[in-house]
Amino acid sequence: MNAHVNAAVQGCAEGAAREAAPNHVRRENGQREVFCGLTGIVWLHRKIQDAFFLVVGSRTCAHLIQSAAGVMIFAEPRFATAIMEEKDLAGLTDANDELDRIVAQLIARRPDIRLLFLVGSCPSEVIKLDLSRAALRLSQSFSPRVRILNYSGSGIETTFTQGEDACLASLVPGLPPFGTSEDQLLIVGSLADVVEDQFVRLFEELGIGPVRFLPPRNSMTLPGVGPNTKFLLAQPFLADTARALQERGATRLAAPFPLGVEGTTAWLRAAADAFGVSDARFVDVTRPYRVRASRALAHYRDQLAGRSIFLFPDSQLEIPLARFLSRELSMQLVEVGTPYLHREHLAEELKLLPNDVALTEGQDVDLQLDRCRAARPDLVVCGLGLANPLEAEGMTTKWSIELVFTPIQGFEQAADLAELFARPLARRAKLVA
Ligand code: SF4
Repeated sequence: MNAHVNAAVQGCAEGAAREAAPNHVRRENGQREVFCGLTGIVWLHRKIQDAFFLVVGSRTCAHLIQSAAGVMIFAEPRFATAIMEEKDLAGLTDANDELDRIVAQLIARRPDIRLLFLVGSCPSEVIKLDLSRAALRLSQSFSPRVRILNYSGSGIETTFTQGEDACLASLVPGLPPFGTSEDQLLIVGSLADVVEDQFVRLFEELGIGPVRFLPPRNSMTLPGVGPNTKFLLAQPFLADTARALQERGATRLAAPFPLGVEGTTAWLRAAADAFGVSDARFVDVTRPYRVRASRALAHYRDQLAGRSIFLFPDSQLEIPLARFLSRELSMQLVEVGTPYLHREHLAEELKLLPNDVALTEGQDVDLQLDRCRAARPDLVVCGLGLANPLEAEGMTTKWSIELVFTPIQGFEQAADLAELFARPLARRAKLVA
């Protein structure tokens, strides 16, 4: 195993199946075309500014992370891959000894690291390297200076946004208890700092607090959790994290996700109702934001209304996006795919979708491509692996991964979110003009 920081290229596609879906949802169980959970490191390492992500994987894993994160010239990266060589995979060396050596070197060289994630991959899972025991063992050596946790980003089990879920779920058991008699609001899911700051201001204006965020910007400020914690999911792909928080006594507030004016209003409303904010105050506080955001959206509605869109399953943001695109921009939903459908967390979203929407859970990529080609939608939202072939066939595409990297939540981002869909259509129009 070699300590290896950086490298380049793309990830692997993996096949997987999941639990039963509602009757009206098409459920597919074939080949998937998605990135693996390692991808989450790209936005998580930017969010938690004293954390380091050490992937225990192959050269392919190193290439995936480097290509997704881009090349950092001026800053020392806070992710790396401990590459497993053939002798590790063949059991000819003690991978645990190698890992301990690499972690000790890393911590000695990087005193800024306060939280270290050992991130499992397909190869580490195949040889059954027990990273939870490794994290426990290493914690005994480096605690309290560095907290060491583990989670899996393997493509065998996960789609790309599940990496964040696994990472956040690994933090929950170590959160301090929140034991005061007052309620706190916990916002769960990575948000761009600019979006987080906007929500902090809005909650302050509404008189809701204290408000904490998971993940925090610094591991020294991890929020407490307990029976007086009410949490709002900011992302739709956090099933394990939500379950872990509920096991600590926290209560999930049911809400649509904060995409678009409608979604953001309903998301804030769920918190306002739970914290006893009056209707009048809620309307007064949110009105200027809603008016401004609706006005900004109008421009894009003119461009997008009536255009057809096909969403391949990829980020798990597809259902909230489809709700926004159909209800606020009047786009026609040809098919809405999602890798997994969490019926409880998505319940408020599903109520807002058109009754006749074609929903697909899971994927059989060839069949789905056939349906897409037959429909010839105006716009296709899909992973990078499908985008280029579809573009070559004359279709207009949007990379779904961009929707995870870009600040899109909240009132002030509603028009930016719409623009992400308008831009490829404008580009295509110029190309054919
Ligand atoms: S974790 Fe698995 S799917 Fe992801 S890059 Fe490594 S080998 Fe490929």
